[in-house]
Amino acid sequence: MKIPYTKTTLGKNKKIALVAHDNKKSDLIEWAKFNKTLLAHHIIYATGTTGGLLEKELGIEILKLQSGPLGGDQQIGSKIVEGDIDFLIFFWDPLEPVPHDPDVKALLRMAVVWNIPMACNRASADFLISSPLMDEEYDRLVPDYDTYRNRLIEANA
Ligand code: PGA
Repeated sequence: MKIPYTKTTLGKNKKIALVAHDNKKSDLIEWAKFNKTLLAHHIIYATGTTGGLLEKELGIEILKLQSGPLGGDQQIGSKIVEGDIDFLIFFWDPLEPVPHDPDVKALLRMAVVWNIPMACNRASADFLISSPLMDEEYDRLVPDYDTYRNRLIEANA
């Protein structure tokens, strides 16, 4: 089904979610430390353990959600749907399964469904954070799912 777009304007201060699996947490901390100044004026959300580490290591305020396996990934997905998160940095581990693999897949899917900028490794995160768009207003295209909502379904097919 072809879906048209509407637009929503992201302000200069983005609402960014940071998440890292255990083997990737040191990567994310290092990345965030390096980019601390660039991150400073944004609003940062994180899953529980990742957020605790970021607060300790960077000394910045983090809006901490549940730990990922306890529902944190789903909370971030839900906030994306509600329009409360507009940027996702998610260093997931490609070499180790986690107990909440379905939640991870669901979060990655929600980011695509709502056209949220997303980086899943350091190189992508570097390119995103250094984009001039990070500090400007940005008209993000948002799929207009009314076509989908109003699709014809026969009740008694
Ligand atoms: P955590 O969750 O930050 O609480 O470890 C990360 C995740 O696995 O989603």
